[in-house]
Amino acid sequence: MKVIIVGRPNVGKSTLFNRIIKKRLSIVHDMPGVTRDVIESQAQWQGKSFTVMDTGGVIESGDYISQEVRKKVIQHLEKVDLILFVVDAKEGLTAQDQEIAKLLYPYKHKTILVVNKVDNKKSNLNAYDFYTLGFDEVYFVSAQHGKGVAELLDRIVRDIPSEEQISTAGGIKISFVGRPNVGKSSLVNAILGQERVIVSHIPGTTRDAVEIPFTYKGTSFILVDTAGVRRPSKVEYGVEFFSVGRSLKAIELSHVVCLVLDISEGVTRQDKRLAGLIERHYKGCVIVANKYDLVKVPKETVENIIRKELYFLDYAPVVVTSAIKGEGVSSILDEVLEVYSDYTKQHKTSFVNRAIQNILKEKPPPLYRGKEVKVYYSFQKSTAPPTVVVITNYVEGWKENYKRFFIRRLREELKLYKSPVRLELVQKEGG
Ligand code: GDP
Repeated sequence: MKVIIVGRPNVGKSTLFNRIIKKRLSIVHDMPGVTRDVIESQAQWQGKSFTVMDTGGVIESGDYISQEVRKKVIQHLEKVDLILFVVDAKEGLTAQDQEIAKLLYPYKHKTILVVNKVDNKKSNLNAYDFYTLGFDEVYFVSAQHGKGVAELLDRIVRDIPSEEQISTAGGIKISFVGRPNVGKSSLVNAILGQERVIVSHIPGTTRDAVEIPFTYKGTSFILVDTAGVRRPSKVEYGVEFFSVGRSLKAIELSHVVCLVLDISEGVTRQDKRLAGLIERHYKGCVIVANKYDLVKVPKETVENIIRKELYFLDYAPVVVTSAIKGEGVSSILDEVLEVYSDYTKQHKTSFVNRAIQNILKEKPPPLYRGKEVKVYYSFQKSTAPPTVVVITNYVEGWKENYKRFFIRRLREELKLYKSPVRLELVQKEGG
């Protein structure tokens, strides 16, 4: 997602840019005609990130825009997703604003008019002239004082999917993460070698990972490999060293993460760390307890140990395997299918509200500063992961252990047995 800021000199483009990126990167000159090229930076709002570009002094002062500058600006306008056209309420509407507006008309559908320097009554009056420029979306801000900027940012990120919501197009993205030598390569090779699994011969590569598409039971999967799990021979490529970075990348890029443990060593600290990363990223998970051939306890005992050690991944099914003997391996993809099905389930608002009423009846949140913590309304905002928004009078009143109880019950009520659920609390005053 790319956003560009345009406008004539001195309307406050750089100030707005700095507000948006929350840093003081570019120097703000108060003199007209300071020429510099387009600068670019990453910005974040509500956990979503986007690129913002400041055209600074590309457009110089004077009523007419030269052919050369016009060309330069148009190149950028073509490429971006959103244009912030900044004008100055103090100065009022000028001929050069109208010039720029003309330049922007072909991109009207993605242009937002930002009326800046709205900090007193007089500029408020001027501000309404700008409606004659004919842009549908108009925001009034004071970049310098930060007024109205939050609303503008809300609008900018409105259409960006959350980063956790990776595209579900192309298939179920899965990865295998775990410490070195737990058996990831052996499992992947065993899975891809199964008769019912049809591997595409053309793996894709992205900047971050190798992606191997395959189908199983008529469903498309993509195996995301960031650690060279599927390299042909260990001897040739040397021993893998453990990298949390690569595991994290794999987790971020997946819908469902297969966390592989060497159960003959129990559940180690590194295993817990990886499990924690999966939980914090709200990913679907299948826990694979591999090397079962080396232990002499019943499968139930294995599962009990895992449940106890990785209690926070209570939504992740456990599969006990021996990659060497080929045991249990075929269950992994079946579990992935079930997890994914819950992970992408969407419930109606009425159903969600009823579920939440049931939970509140059973056990409401404890009083907050002597006052009742209420829920006004709730709905499921998105899937992958299923995200439930709860509008409440006191966000602060929702303590960690109550939230944990609430989410666990919510998963039961919404029948999302094998998926994490994300709870978003939104505060509404009064009531
Ligand atoms: P990775 O580093 O996690 O990819 O682990 P590998 O798949 O390379 O396996 C590491 C070692 O464990 C190899 O010597 C495998 O043969 C062995 N191994 C893998 N799975 C099993 C298993 O289920 N049982 C036993 N006994 N050994 C296994």
